[in-house]
Amino acid sequence: MTDIADLIEPLIAFRRDIHAHPELGFAEHRTAGCIAEQLRALGLEVHEGIGRTGVVGVLRNGTSGRSIGLRADMDALPIQEQTNLPYASTTPGTFHGCGHDGHVAMLLGAAQHLTRTRHFDGTVNFFFQPAEEGQGGAREMVNEGLFERFPCDRVFGLHNWPDLPAGTIATRPGPIMGAADKFEIILEGRGGHAAIPQDTPDAIQAAAAMVQQLNAIISRRIAATASAVLSITQIHGGHTHNVIPAEVRVSGTVRTFDPAVQDRIEASIREIAAGIGIANGVTATVDYQRYYPATINDAEAAQEALDAAATVGNAVIAPDPAFTSEDFAFMLQACQGAYIWLGQAKGDGGTPLHNPHYDFNDDVLALGIRLHVALAERHLA
Ligand SMILES: [Zn+2]
Ligand SMILES: [Zn+2]
Repeated sequence: MTDIADLIEPLIAFRRDIHAHPELGFAEHRTAGCIAEQLRALGLEVHEGIGRTGVVGVLRNGTSGRSIGLRADMDALPIQEQTNLPYASTTPGTFHGCGHDGHVAMLLGAAQHLTRTRHFDGTVNFFFQPAEEGQGGAREMVNEGLFERFPCDRVFGLHNWPDLPAGTIATRPGPIMGAADKFEIILEGRGGHAAIPQDTPDAIQAAAAMVQQLNAIISRRIAATASAVLSITQIHGGHTHNVIPAEVRVSGTVRTFDPAVQDRIEASIREIAAGIGIANGVTATVDYQRYYPATINDAEAAQEALDAAATVGNAVIAPDPAFTSEDFAFMLQACQGAYIWLGQAKGDGGTPLHNPHYDFNDDVLALGIRLHVALAERHLA
C-alpha cells in the first residue's frame, strides 16, 4: 500500500475538532457539513440529507460493476465529558464517548487515500450515518432506499473496541452484537388507603412479585446453551406512606442473538404480566419494543474482513459476540456484510465506551484507514 503517513496529522486535527464539537443523533449538522465539504474537495459525488443528516460519498473507478459500502457513524452521546483534554467537548452534556469522531476520521482518510491511488475497479460508497446511539439512523438511511440508490455487493462497518489491544482487528461469522428490546409494564389497580388493603388491589405487591418472576425467565424458560440477558431497570410507583398507589410501572431491557429466543422471552413476559394481573386484581399492560435487531455477519463477508485485516494488522476471530447492540444491524439486514472491531486499548488497558473518561485512540487511526482501504481494494481488485 502506498504510504498514508502524510494524511495522519491533518486527520488527527480533524478528529479532535469533531470531538470538540459533538452533536447528538439527527442533529449532526456541523459534522455532516464538515464531512461533505471534505468529500467534495476530493471530487467525490456527494449526497446529503439521507436519513435526515446522513452523508454519502461515491467514488467510481474503472469499468467493473462491483461495489462496496463502508460505514462510519457520526453522533455523540448525552454524557458530560470528564477527560480534561485540550480538545474536550465545548458543548456541555454532549460528548464523543463512543469514538464516532475517530470512525469519521478513519473513513475520511480511506476516501482520501483511495481517491489519490485508485487501485480498485468498481464503486466505493462511503456511508456517514447519523444517530447510531439508540435512534436508528442506519434504519432511516435503509428505509430511504440507501442500497437501491447506492447498490453494494458488501457493506462493512468498523467500531473501535477498547477490550482489544491496539493493532488487533476482530470479527466473527454469525451474530456479533445483540438484539436490544425494551419493555414497560403498567400495573393498574384503583388506589386506596394503606390501612385498608383488603379493599384495594395492591400494584406494589404485584410489581414485587412480577420482578421476581421476570428475573427467572432466562434461567427457567431459556435453554442453558442459548444466550440472553433480561434486566429490570426501573420501578416507579407511589408518592406517600399511607396510600396504596393506583399505578406502578416496571421497565427493563432484553438482549438476545436468536429471534426464537427473543420470541420466547417476549411471550414469557406477556404471560407473567397477565398472570400477575389476575393473581393481584390489577390490570397489566405490556409495551414491548424491539428497537435494534441482532447484528449478524454474513459468513463469507466476515472471512473477507478477516483476510483483509490480516494484511494490515493482527486479525483474530472473536470467540463471542457482545451483548451491546448496534444499529449497523439494519444495514446487514439489507446487504451482505460484516461488522468489525478495531482494537484500541493502550498498554494500560482501555477505558470503556460510554465512559466519561473515554477518548478515541489516535494511534489506531492509520490502521483503521488501512483496513478500510484493504477491504475496498481486495473486494474491487
Ligand atoms: Zn455507543
Ligand atoms: Zn459506537
